Amino acid sequence: MFIYSFKLPKNCIIISIVIVILITSIFIYSFADNRENISSDNDFIKWVDFNVTASALQDTAKLDIDSHNSENSPVLYNWIELLAYLACEYGGDFKNYKKSDLDDLTVKLQDTSITSLTSTLKFYDYYYESYSAVLGNFIGNYSIEIQDSSSNKTSVVHKYGLKAFLPIAKNYSFNHYDDFGNSRSYGFKRTHLGNDLMGNIGTPIVAVESGVVEHLGWNQYGGWRVGIRSFDGKRYFYYAHLRKNHPYAENLQEGSVVKAGDVIGYLGMTGYSIKENVNNINVPHLHFGIQLIFDESQVDSPNEIWINVYHIIEFLKNNRSTVYMSNNKTKDYSRVYDFWDNNFTE
Ligand SMILES: [Zn+2]
Repeated sequence: MFIYSFKLPKNCIIISIVIVILITSIFIYSFADNRENISSDNDFIKWVDFNVTASALQDTAKLDIDSHNSENSPVLYNWIELLAYLACEYGGDFKNYKKSDLDDLTVKLQDTSITSLTSTLKFYDYYYESYSAVLGNFIGNYSIEIQDSSSNKTSVVHKYGLKAFLPIAKNYSFNHYDDFGNSRSYGFKRTHLGNDLMGNIGTPIVAVESGVVEHLGWNQYGGWRVGIRSFDGKRYFYYAHLRKNHPYAENLQEGSVVKAGDVIGYLGMTGYSIKENVNNINVPHLHFGIQLIFDESQVDSPNEIWINVYHIIEFLKNNRSTVYMSNNKTKDYSRVYDFWDNNFTE
């Protein structure tokens, strides 16, 4: 009895120690696991200052497209890699861009890979990921109808090139200036997070890139507006102040899938009103914006990333969608030449 009563607490102590060790290790393990989750959840880009100039976009795009279309180009250039390398040289400020810097880079790339050239550049990965989020689906393979020179028929050609379109349809005039960050008068103090393209009411507006209509309808700032998310989820294209009474292309609704160059709506002057279908904008224009989304927590939050699209618009003047009035009753327009990129089949 005496011995037994001594044994029991001893066993208890051993069991207690084992339990304490178990609980402690489970706690440490789950804490470490949690820490890992927290850091990986936060491991996304929080801010992008996109100031790549139209000439830098133009020059790098040309190298990329020409090398992919040439039978015997010694180097296949990727314009996003070229831009990310230059961004490292310029500390992210393309005001310093010189064509000769790009020429020097292409000389280096004749006998060195971009991977080894950039291995010691601290911010290369950041610029590469940021610029990929902006420009990731602008250049690549696509198919498009073209007019046969000998007949009235069209045929389909397969191409590698620029496949994002200017939002203003071909043969419609517009003008703009770099107005990103200007202050706005309506509502609380806000800065301008896009580019205003001044044009005539009714000018057909086309989708810059293919994607899914995420928002469509009235917004007190944007008036009749449409928001289209790219298929990779990283870009949200915002088109606002569309035409009173007839803002959108036929049958366009939330969830609709659109192709780059499809007519989505018509330029107008709606907005700056809680009441729907009101023209409160002084000068007819399209407000165009691009929001970058690296993580869904950046949607509808104070951490939204809107980039300056002024130079993108300048660059996209190289690719415009031809449209025609396809419905005489509704006065709706459609694209003339159909188009397919990697998300669609002919
Ligand atoms: Zn605007």
